[in-house]
Amino acid sequence: LTEVGERYTEHSSRELLRWQDRLVLVDNAYGLRFFNLADPLQQVVEVMPQLRSIHRSKLTRRSSLYRTEPVGNSNQDDFINAMVELHTDLEPVDLLLELQAIEHACYRRRDSGDKWGPRTMDLDIILFGNRRQHDSHLILPHAEMQNRRFVLMPLLEIAGDVYIPGLGSLSWLLEHAPQMRIERLPDPPGLDSI
Ligand code: ADP
Ligand code: MG
Repeated sequence: LTEVGERYTEHSSRELLRWQDRLVLVDNAYGLRFFNLADPLQQVVEVMPQLRSIHRSKLTRRSSLYRTEPVGNSNQDDFINAMVELHTDLEPVDLLLELQAIEHACYRRRDSGDKWGPRTMDLDIILFGNRRQHDSHLILPHAEMQNRRFVLMPLLEIAGDVYIPGLGSLSWLLEHAPQMRIERLPDPPGLDSI
C-alpha cells in the first residue's frame, strides 16, 4: 500500500480512480498478530512460512517485532506484535478464513491438553486496501486500530504514508493514540526477511 500512497501524491485524481479499480483485483491487507507464549519469538518464526503459503496471495512486507505490555489483564506476559503486508486476490472474508485456519493449526499443535488455555496467536486484518466494511464477520479497518500503539507502530514501519479510510493519516492517529510501553526488537534468528 506504500506504493499506492506514492501514487496518491504523484498522479491526478483520474489516474487515482483507475488505480483504485485495479486495487479490487490485487488488494493489500495488513495482518496483526500477537503471542504470549513461553517462546513467542519462535512462534513468529514458525508462522511466517504459513502466511507466505496463503493461496492467491503474496507476502510483500514484514515489520520488525515489537514487545508490548498486555492490555487489560496486566497479569499476563508481554506480547509480541508485528505487521505484514499481503497482496491478495482473496476477498476479505476469505482471507479471514485463511488466517483463522492458521491460528487453529497453531493452537492445536501447542495446546492439545488445554483447549481453553490462554490465547496464543491472533491474526487480524487491520486494513484491506481502502475497503470499509461493518458486519458480523468483519470490521474494516480494524475497530480498535486507532487505540493500539502496537498496531500503529509496526504499520508506520512498513506503510508510513498509508491513509486509513474513515480515520485519517497514520501520523495523526499516532499523535492521538494512548501511550503504552512498546519496544522494537532485533529480528530473532531464523526469521526471514521479505
Ligand atoms: P480478537 O481478535 O478480538 O482478540 P478473535 O480473534 O477471537 O478475537 O476474533 C473474534 C471475531 O472478530 C472473529 O470471529 C471475526 O469474525 C471478528 N472480526 C471482526 N473484524 C475483524 C478483523 N478486522 N480482523 C479479524 N477478525 C475480525
Ligand atoms: Mg482476531
